[in-house]
Amino acid sequence: MLRLAAQSATGTLHRALAPGNAFILQPDPDARAPAPEGKNVLPYALRGMAVKDNITTLSTPTTCASKTLETYRSPFEAGVLEQLRSCMGTVVGKTNLDEFGMGSHSTNSAFGPVTNTTPFERISVGGSSGGSAIAVATLQCDMALGTDTGGSVRLPAAYTGVTGFKPSYGRISRWGVVPYANSMDTVGILAPSATSVMSVFRCAIEPDPRDPTSLTGETRSRIRQSITKSRKRERARRKRLGQWESEDDDTKFMNVRIGIPVEYNIEELDHGVRSIWKDALEIFQVNGATLVPISLPNTKHALSAYYVLAPAEAASNLSKYDGVRYGSRAEGWREGTGHVLYSNTRGYGFGEEVKRRILLGSYTLSSEARDNYFLKAQKVRRLVQRDFDRVFAVPNPLLPTQHFDLSDLDESTPMMDKLGPPQVDFIVCPTAPTAAPSLQYVATQNSVDTYMNDVFTVPASLAGLPAISVPFSISRQHKRRDHPNYTGIQIIGQFGDDQRVITIAEKLE
Ligand code: GLN
Repeated sequence: MLRLAAQSATGTLHRALAPGNAFILQPDPDARAPAPEGKNVLPYALRGMAVKDNITTLSTPTTCASKTLETYRSPFEAGVLEQLRSCMGTVVGKTNLDEFGMGSHSTNSAFGPVTNTTPFERISVGGSSGGSAIAVATLQCDMALGTDTGGSVRLPAAYTGVTGFKPSYGRISRWGVVPYANSMDTVGILAPSATSVMSVFRCAIEPDPRDPTSLTGETRSRIRQSITKSRKRERARRKRLGQWESEDDDTKFMNVRIGIPVEYNIEELDHGVRSIWKDALEIFQVNGATLVPISLPNTKHALSAYYVLAPAEAASNLSKYDGVRYGSRAEGWREGTGHVLYSNTRGYGFGEEVKRRILLGSYTLSSEARDNYFLKAQKVRRLVQRDFDRVFAVPNPLLPTQHFDLSDLDESTPMMDKLGPPQVDFIVCPTAPTAAPSLQYVATQNSVDTYMNDVFTVPASLAGLPAISVPFSISRQHKRRDHPNYTGIQIIGQFGDDQRVITIAEKLE
């Protein structure tokens, strides 16, 4: 059994006995830091926030669902929490997850798996932010924070019927988020609706100089200007081609072009999910949006690249948990035998999946494998990014201009600083290839089969793009009595176009 008798200065921590094993810890109210003052305020109905337990809080330990950190207390609070508390948010609890964010079903937790609610106890809640997702779904909080490295907010949102948003990389502060794979880690929002996501997002996007990857105020305004300018130019081009409604609203369905990535129509795609995808596209079309088949040819390599890069970063991140600098120390070690302390501590502290990732990452970073795995995966990542940039109408504001910009000569001149002709504003696809599987089925899967769940979420992660999962009901002919009858549809947008992605999701509600 885990020791959870961590004493705070002012009281005892309670293991939260909440439905679904959604929470690891409840905060000690006396240890709560005073809320700093902020300019925005969260709506009253969104103030109680559940926080994934890999995001540091002062009022509780931050365990990452690992024995290694079972009593770890951070000396500081995560930047995103400071921002949300300054908008009147309160932490109602720390939620359960796959250890260090590694997993897709929230079953890899040292505190026991997150479970779904009756009658779906045997159905996966998704992972790794499964505790946050089910806490929102069962109204144990108003909204929740999760982290999304390769889909960990979007997948559980899809499996539990809530809305899950992953922002552009660098948009929400990662200061105080325990790193898994730094180059893809983001803090995501889980909430009952896209409108709620928007309210939370607005309160969480201050630049944070303590996170070196947080976009600075200057970069943000450059991105904003670039996107506004590109949109204006795109509007002019479409007007010229007669593809524009009279109003200047580029979130109006009539003015929107939706990309359907043909490579996402994979053989393994469940019939029910395919039919939901069609339903979603039909909603867009019926309301006047233009549907455009697009090709993202490198998508098929994205999953393999992700599962090389993420474990490589994880192996290097997790090397600090050696029982000396961080984390619990295994008993039975003797002084002067450092390696025994390290290996005992790590052997005791980490779960199976975490150990698997460390081994995988250490191998792909080793001199013999580096060229064939790590560097190749980096190249694939670049190609996946290019695929997206090629199809979006708005160019990636972070990419340098590749040709000189003719726009100053004529506003309606098509973009020249893109890799291809402007095609679409958003990409719409399923969040996962199947609806939530049963835990019994998950238990029979090997790790590679489990990784397949992330096939539609990792491409946006590799490219750092904003993406939202919106719940959709399964059509009547595919309904099953023993299964939740919904899954998620994902909307992906260009880097920095976060607000528009959420606005489009709002319009589907
Ligand atoms: N399932 C993926 C993994 O295990 C995604 C995890 C995440 O986004 N934190 O790596």
